[in-house]
This record gives sequence, structure tokens and C-alpha cells, in this order.
Amino acid sequence: VKGKLDLLKPNTHQTVNTLLDSLALDLAAKVDAKIENGETIGVLEGIPFGIKDVFMLQGTVTTASSNLLKNYKSAYTASAIQKLLDAGAIPIVKENCDSFGHGSSSENTIFGAVKNAVNQNLVAGGSSGGSAVNVALDYTVFSIGGDTGGSVRQPAGYNHVYGFKPTYGRISRFGLMAYASSTDCVGPIANTIEDIRILLNVMSGKDIKDQTTYVSKEISEESISKVIGIKTIGYFKNFMESDAINPKIKNDFLASIEKIKAKGIEIKELDFFKSDILVSTYYTLAMAETASNLSRLDGSNYGNRIEDKNLKESYAITRSENFSEETKRRIVGGNQVLSQGFSDEIYLKGLALRDAISENFENDFKEVDIIISPVTPSAPPKIGDSLKDPHAMYLSDAYTVGFSLGQLPTLTIPQGTETGLQITAAKNNDGLVLQFANFLK
Ligand code: GLN
Repeated sequence: VKGKLDLLKPNTHQTVNTLLDSLALDLAAKVDAKIENGETIGVLEGIPFGIKDVFMLQGTVTTASSNLLKNYKSAYTASAIQKLLDAGAIPIVKENCDSFGHGSSSENTIFGAVKNAVNQNLVAGGSSGGSAVNVALDYTVFSIGGDTGGSVRQPAGYNHVYGFKPTYGRISRFGLMAYASSTDCVGPIANTIEDIRILLNVMSGKDIKDQTTYVSKEISEESISKVIGIKTIGYFKNFMESDAINPKIKNDFLASIEKIKAKGIEIKELDFFKSDILVSTYYTLAMAETASNLSRLDGSNYGNRIEDKNLKESYAITRSENFSEETKRRIVGGNQVLSQGFSDEIYLKGLALRDAISENFENDFKEVDIIISPVTPSAPPKIGDSLKDPHAMYLSDAYTVGFSLGQLPTLTIPQGTETGLQITAAKNNDGLVLQFANFLK
């Protein structure tokens, strides 16, 4: 713990704060004492980990990488984080990310852009960029991110580590700052599939504080160590035919397909919605939900309030001075699609498309056991480029957002040099995803 804290100097770009020093060292001393007394310790006891700074951890500042919450102290601890604490894991750092999860590059933050672990001129991906980089550099053994439309999987891909978005509702969202509640998921980032399995088991389960959670079966080590019942794998033809796909990513993906075929598994091409439909459906709903979720942040209960003589003006100034450009773009867009005259045309259409996408997946999973795809069509851009072209940034989410809308379990594993490989199964088949990932190793 001490060694990792030293690596995480407070001003490294992936770190929001290591104010957890004293807490972390106290917890570590307790584990040391247990070991000295000859007591057996649990699998997560004493393991240092990082937390994307959108999770509440009582007593620590939770900024969401925003100016608005720059000094906000969490009043309680997120359920998923509490389960890790109960298992003895030690939080050592709150991690830099795109503010409120808004972004795909971890540049939309008051703490400065997170740099890619492999090439410092490139973005880390986002929004859980700090979390993926810390794992890739071994500054944390694992990190906990939030994935609404790809925020765990995409930076995991850009930094060549494992990142898992479980089935929606498998892990409680209580204490994860809400971005788009219908697709928000808690997701672990780690260096091995086995670590992901352990973390998933610890964090999963029914939580009365999040009514979308459910009881799930533990995934045993044995159950993911051999392939049972995976016969057919599917991939989306149109993802491969798109002009937007980087040729190296395409080649890496085709190489993975050959590898799978060589293992005697059948591969099927599947039809799917075009990328621009996926991206516009996701951003319509995500913006609508974030406009609603962030309406509570007006300075009256939380965060940096900017006073004006007039109360309404206080709200307006607090929000316009403290939210980033990207967050404001989403609030304005979200309120527009929800407003009278637009909601039928845009928002309700988005909901209908989401249902159609889920139905498409249900039909696909009658034919195939697993769907694979690259994590992104493009390689990580240079730092600065995404800020200049938000539309291009949205399009870079083309391969992750569909699985979010379908609420499916999806894992990024390292593949090739640019991005990762995404492995997806039907709802609640999280174990099957890990099983297939192990098989491909
Ligand atoms: N890049 C996507 C967005 O900005 C996904 C972000 C996320 O999953 N938090 O909405």
C-alpha cells in the first residue's frame, strides 16, 4: 500500500487525490497485524485499489472531476465500494475522469487530461481514464469505474487491460453519481480475468437502496475454467464494413476471428443497426437522463454556490460557471429532446429504438452464444483532438453504446495494438463472458 501510494503522487494526471493516505495506511496496518498474528486473510484483504471520482466514499471529497463539486465531501459510501471495504480491500486513490462521466477521452476534467499508459501523447480514453491507466501502470491492483455507454470498456481497450460492464442491475448503483440511470453500471478494471471474477462476486447482489438490483449466482473459478456450451459466436457485419473502422483494428479483429475458428467454434455474421443509429439513440437518452439527473446540482444543497441577489440567477450562474462545456452541451441537448414539441419526435423515438435494439439482441442470442466486436472503430486520438470535435468523439462510441442500451454483460480484453476486443453475452450470462475470455487466452 505504501509503495503504491508513493507512486500515486497527488499531481499525476490520473489522480484526483490521494487524501486516502492515512485511511489507507491505517487499514494496511490492521491487515499486517492479522498476518503477524498468524490469522488467515481473505482474498481481497490488503489489496490497494482506485475509485473513479464519481463514487461516494464517506469522509473523502468526491468531485466528479467538476468545478461544481470540487470541495464536496461524500456523506456516505457507495454500496459497491462498501462491499470491497468489507472484504478488506484498501482504497488508495480517487481517480480523474471525464466530468460526470461525460466523455470518451478523460479530457473533460478540471484536473487536466489523463494521458494514455502506453503513449503519453494520446488520450487515455474515458470516461474512466484515470482508473484504466492506474491499473495499466500497476499503480493500483484494480480500479472501480462506471460504465454508462462504454466508460470502463473503452479506456480498458485503449490501455490494454481488462474492463467489465456487468448486466445492468447486477451491481448496485447506490452511491455512484447518476449520469444516465437506465444504463449506468459499476464496472471493475483489472489485469486478469480472475481478478474481474473475484471483484464481480464481491460487488454483485440485491441492494434495497437500488431497486434495479437482483440476486445473482456466484461465478465459481471452476465454472469459467472450461468451455461449456459455447458453440457459435456472432459478429456484426456492418461494424466491419463501415468506412470509419481503422484498418489495423479491423485486421486485429479478423485475426481474433481466425483464432476462434481454429478452436473449432462456428462464426456467424449478424445484422445490426447502423452505428449512427446506435450513437444517436444512446446520446438522445443519455442526454435526456443527465439533464434530469443533474438538475439537482444548482448550488442550493451541494457544491460551489455562486451568489446573486436573485435566487434564480444564483442557480443559473452556479451552473453556467461551474459545469464544463461538454456537460452544458448535454444538459441543453437533453432538455431540448424532453421539451414539448420535441419529446414525441425525438425522446420517445429514442425509447422505441432502444426497445428495438434489445429485441434484436434477444433474437441474436437465440442463434449465437457470444457476440464479439472491437471496442472502438478508431484508435485513441491525440490529446486535444476530441475537445475540438465532440461529434467525432460521440462517433468513437459506436461499438460500445449498443450493448449498454441492451443492458448486456460485456468485457474488454486486450487485442492488438489500438483497442481491445469486446465479448458480450445475453443478459445475466456474465459468467459465460468470463468463460469465453479465458478460453481465448
Ligand atoms: N463516452 C460515453 C458518453 O460520453 C460513455 C461515457 C460513460 O460510459 N460514462 O456518454
